Amino acid sequence: MDIERITSFTQDHDKITPGLYISRIDGSLITYDMRTRKPNGGEYMDNITMHTVEHMFATYIRNSEIGGNIIYFGPMGCQTGFYLIVRNEKPERVLEIIKKTLVLIINHKGEVFGASRKECGNYKNLALQPCIDECKKYLDVLNSKEIDFKYEQ
Ligand SMILES: [Zn+2]
Repeated sequence: MDIERITSFTQDHDKITPGLYISRIDGSLITYDMRTRKPNGGEYMDNITMHTVEHMFATYIRNSEIGGNIIYFGPMGCQTGFYLIVRNEKPERVLEIIKKTLVLIINHKGEVFGASRKECGNYKNLALQPCIDECKKYLDVLNSKEIDFKYEQ
C-alpha cells in the first residue's frame, strides 16, 4: 500500500501563527483550523481547557444561526487548536459567528454544558475558567489581525 502524505501535513507548521484558516474544501464542506497556539511554540492547551472549550463551543455554535450547518467541532491532538467543519456558509459569516460564539462563552455563567456522567465520557475533567481564558485570548487574536483564511506559504 502506498501511503500519501495528507494535505494538512504539507503545511509548514513553523510558519503557522494563531488565527483562523481554511485547511480543506470538500464540495460544500469547509474545514477551518481554529489555531489558538503557535505550533511547537512550547505552550499548549491542556486537556481540561480543550475539553471544556469543546463542550461550550460546540453547544453554542450549534445553537447559532448557522447551527444546522455545523458538521463537526473538536480539538486538535497537538493541543494547538480546534477543527471546525461547516457546510454551505461563506467564510466571512463563519468568522462572524465564531466571534459571537466566543463572546457567549466568555460571558457564560453557571454550569459547563454537558457536565454530567450521562452526557460525557470524562465529565469531571471540565472547568469553565481556563476555557474562558482560552476563548478571550483567541478572540483577541481574531480581532487583532486581518483574517484572510489562508495559511502563509
Ligand atoms: Zn466531554
